[in-house]
Amino acid sequence: MLSYRQLQSGLGRRGPHLFSDFGRISSNTGGSVGAHAPKYLRSTGTRFASSNAAPKFGSSSMFVGLAGLLGLATVGVLLIPTVNVKAPTETTQGHASAVEIKKAIADLQTALPGEVVTGSICVDMSGMDQIIEIHADDGDLVCQAGARWEDINQALHDKGIPLFFPLDPGPGATIGGMIGTGCSGTNAVRYGTARGEWFLNVTVVLPNGKVIKTRRRARKSAAGFDTTQLFIGAEGTLGIVTEATLRLAPVIPTKVAVAQFPTVQNAVNAVQEILNSPDGPHIQCVELLDNKMMEAINAAGLVSRPYPVSDSLFLKLQGTDISIKQTAGMVQQVFKKHGSYHFEFAATEEEAAEMWENRKYALMSTISAGGEGARVWTTDVCVPVSRLPELVYETKKDLESVGLDKTTIVGHVGDGNFHALIVFNSDEQLPKVSDAVHRLVHRAIALDGTCTGEHGIGVGKKEYMYDELSDDTVELMKTIKAAIDPLDIMNPDKLYPDKPADRKH
Ligand SMILES: Cc1cc2nc3c(=O)[nH]c(=O)nc-3n(C[C@H](O)[C@H](O)[C@H](O)COP(=O)(O)OP(=O)(O)OC[C@H]3O[C@@H](n4cnc5c(N)ncnc54)[C@H](O)[C@@H]3O)c2cc1C
Repeated sequence: MLSYRQLQSGLGRRGPHLFSDFGRISSNTGGSVGAHAPKYLRSTGTRFASSNAAPKFGSSSMFVGLAGLLGLATVGVLLIPTVNVKAPTETTQGHASAVEIKKAIADLQTALPGEVVTGSICVDMSGMDQIIEIHADDGDLVCQAGARWEDINQALHDKGIPLFFPLDPGPGATIGGMIGTGCSGTNAVRYGTARGEWFLNVTVVLPNGKVIKTRRRARKSAAGFDTTQLFIGAEGTLGIVTEATLRLAPVIPTKVAVAQFPTVQNAVNAVQEILNSPDGPHIQCVELLDNKMMEAINAAGLVSRPYPVSDSLFLKLQGTDISIKQTAGMVQQVFKKHGSYHFEFAATEEEAAEMWENRKYALMSTISAGGEGARVWTTDVCVPVSRLPELVYETKKDLESVGLDKTTIVGHVGDGNFHALIVFNSDEQLPKVSDAVHRLVHRAIALDGTCTGEHGIGVGKKEYMYDELSDDTVELMKTIKAAIDPLDIMNPDKLYPDKPADRKH
């Protein structure tokens, strides 16, 4: 049987197939690089950062405008560890000063007249991936910004330290990118998001070249307001994070279960009752996978035996044996009350790992089940949990009405956050997909939700910021940006919307 990782790299060889609200995710750049690259760079075919043949999720990166390079001269020499400027014909790689970077871009502009129009450079942080200090007694760790969350947890495990970092976004995500997006993941229902206090401090290179550390390592501090938070969710627009201190949590034994429900409404009602009960804190994760997603998982063929095809919940319960037993009893009772007709615990560690992989690699299953030439546009929104069934119901109806009926839905249901993985086959279908995403976002905002629960704004969702946050709140964000980065050199064009009149939809 193929593993999900083999499936992931096999799909990579099929050519560009992944889209997000930010645009095409090319199969031979780091997934996230393509995801956030300004359109004019992608459309020229110019590649930045990783040159691996297989998709490499999370080669964390950001763009810096040429205009700011002189101001960043010191930073270029001291803190940009690897700068890859790669075009089809040319690669510049290694430690680079601002002057060298400027020359590389000028050379590219000569080699490809009319193609490299921005003069932006891409800073690849993936080489800065070291864990610098582990303070097991204090329950924290200092690492560089290119370190990946899975590698950090593996290193702690290998050293026999019974602690872990509980933010778990996509496979291969790096600490710098996780700070940039204000990420979360399946553990958020128990541990919260990057906007909690999981980052005790960050070291940041500001656009003016100064290097600041936002706080010391103490667990809490009342010394002024929280400048660490300024950089969480800033999408690299306020500075380059080079180092962070992460708070760690104790590893607690878990058990994985899956249950089927007749409708999303039944599943959500059950989840709300459980989370609000005294046993609620023993729920580490609770994930919704709709009937189409379950069909795709079975069709992708990476399951020992097929799942029943209906709206399902995947859960992780955590605690001591006694508390897991007690919580499991309560969960089964509540599920039954809300119409669940099938409930199953993973009997072994291997079964538990397989069940959770089925959830974690839902995107790969969707692409694979979509057949030859299938492409997927991923998008996420978040609403108050009680509004989730209405949002899912209306969205599925809408997507089916325009023929996008292979779409799968995966939700962090305990947080009211869901991802639509919209399957389509051709460029001609792109406007239809884009319109459907637009309607989904407006539906979420109308339900007192947000245009993105965790993936961020990038360039693709800027236009919704005024609707969601109000003119005055957006103006406050722009004021902060202008104060910290007056020359607009850090990730220009991202996050901050143009005037409302310039909206596309
Ligand atoms: C299969 C799959 C599942 C996913 N599931 C989840 C999920 O459950 N939850 C979730 O939150 N996300 C999820 N994601 C999205 C993704 O994992 C997160 O957005 C993650 O935080 C991105 O990390 P990255 O290292 O790839 O960052 P990138 O995409 O490279 O960068 C993200 C942003 O941060 C900026 N940035 C990067 N490094 C730095 C730095 N050092 N300093 C300042 N700014 C920087 C970038 O410029 C960019 O604006 C998923 C993605 C995939 C492909």
